[in-house]
Amino acid sequence: MAQHVAPPTATTPVLPAKLPIGAIVPWAVFFGILMLVLLYFVGAEQGATSVVSGEDVHEWVHDARHLLGFPCH
Ligand SMILES: [Zn+2]
Repeated sequence: MAQHVAPPTATTPVLPAKLPIGAIVPWAVFFGILMLVLLYFVGAEQGATSVVSGEDVHEWVHDARHLLGFPCH
C-alpha cells in the first residue's frame, strides 16, 4: 500500500495569542472582590460581625462553612 506524503510547505509559525494585561486586570479585581464578599458571607457572617440580621445567611452557607473549616458551633 502506497502512501502519499505531501511535501512540506512554507507556512508561518502559529504563535500563541498574547493577552494584554490591561484586559485582564479589571476582571481579576472584579472576581477578587466577589470572592472576598463570598468568603465573608461563608466565614464571618455570624454574631457580632453579622451584616444581615437573623440566621438566614448563616443557614444558607452553613455546609460551606464546615467544609472550609471555619468555626461554627
Ligand atoms: Zn455549623
